[in-house]
Amino acid sequence: MKTPEHRSGDLPVPAPGLVCKPMQSQFLEQNLPRDRTLREVLEGFDSCREGEKSYAIVEALYPICRSITGDGIRESLRLLQRTVPLQLLEVPSGTQVFDWTVPKEWNIRDGYIKNAKGERVVDFQRSNLHVVSYSVPVRRTMSLPELEPHLFTLPETPDWIPYRTSYYRETWGFCLSQRQLEGMGEGEFEVCIDSSLEPGYLSFGEYRIQGATDDEVLISCHACHPSLCNDNLSGMATAARLAQLLQGVTLRYSYRFLWIPGTIGSITWLARHEAILPRIKHGLVLSCVGDSGPFTFKRSRRGDAEVDRAVEHVLRQSGQNFHVLDFTPYGYDERQYCSPGINLPVGCFMRTQNGGYPQYHTSADDLTLVTPASLGESVVQLLRVLQILEENRCYLNCNPKCEPQLGRRGLYRQMGGLKDAAARETAMLWVLNLSDGQHDLLAIAVRSGLPFAQISCAADALEEVGLLASAG
Ligand SMILES: [Zn+2]
Repeated sequence: MKTPEHRSGDLPVPAPGLVCKPMQSQFLEQNLPRDRTLREVLEGFDSCREGEKSYAIVEALYPICRSITGDGIRESLRLLQRTVPLQLLEVPSGTQVFDWTVPKEWNIRDGYIKNAKGERVVDFQRSNLHVVSYSVPVRRTMSLPELEPHLFTLPETPDWIPYRTSYYRETWGFCLSQRQLEGMGEGEFEVCIDSSLEPGYLSFGEYRIQGATDDEVLISCHACHPSLCNDNLSGMATAARLAQLLQGVTLRYSYRFLWIPGTIGSITWLARHEAILPRIKHGLVLSCVGDSGPFTFKRSRRGDAEVDRAVEHVLRQSGQNFHVLDFTPYGYDERQYCSPGINLPVGCFMRTQNGGYPQYHTSADDLTLVTPASLGESVVQLLRVLQILEENRCYLNCNPKCEPQLGRRGLYRQMGGLKDAAARETAMLWVLNLSDGQHDLLAIAVRSGLPFAQISCAADALEEVGLLASAG
């Protein structure tokens, strides 16, 4: 039985047509200490252990046949509820969302091509990539020349199966390896796709954490690809782990996590939440965060949003190779979040960019392409970005005429080794010099080349002794 959506701290009334299913939450970690800060979460954070947890989520989601609608995405969201108490929300087929219409729901039970001996030469049960996503049902006997327009292979990588979809054109097809095609032989083939394309629902997952303010950070990922690990599952797992890690943390911002079908999911969500969009102050789309390539950040359409500056600072401070790309109107759901009438400050956080690795959209984007180490490191870098968003503020130096006397206030060469003390003093001098109401702490970190955390700690110490005041 479906019931109307009820949520607190969100829309005052349920959005019409939005329904949710009863939620069964089963937390993997019940006893996280509460009232920590993000700074404390990051202290001593074990990225190896973290990576193993993220990888376990990827492994569990891998076998499920997802698409933009249907039981596969539902099952995936229910599985994620073991990690994070997300709400599974649904919007009926046929609902108008801006210029688009929520499509019919697609489900598949089986699909195969049998040769004259009755052997399944292509079998959906062996790989869910074998059937073109959104294929209409088929049951026919055909010769190979008749069948060939419906077959897709990758001749240059003859062992890999391509990933293909046909969401908005009612057709059918099979994806197979070039070797399978070459071994199919002659004669008649029995072709079966046991699927359904009927009015139903578009499903997505949403989880919101209330912070000290209603201003929000949006974390969004697509959840609509079948057995593909880097493109799809790495983002889903990382978003789930971030949501879990933020539970019980004292936060300035509220956080909203979305697991949605690509394109139609973000369009649907945006069309139904226009009233709250002004509250979204920062956002990130997560995808392809599990491979071993260097980090890639695609800036928001604005290009100089706080989240853009925060990610670039974190990646620069990592000491590793990384890429920063300007916004382009193709890619993932940042296209919708950054469409001109929405224009949210949402960038896209990746390792190797979509389309930039040979396994992209093939069966080789599997459990061997993503690694626990890469997933763990992605979570750490994202936590550092969130720490910046949480702690970044603009201050005024209360003693701007020449340097204040730090020793008199117990801030000069008091603690730690000489090297630590020198680093602390350098950070304090930068904060004092640039706290003119024009530079936020992030700008000071960027200009000084010091890690944000060091600048933020220096600001805390200076504020404590009355040398800094909030610039409002
Ligand atoms: Zn994709």
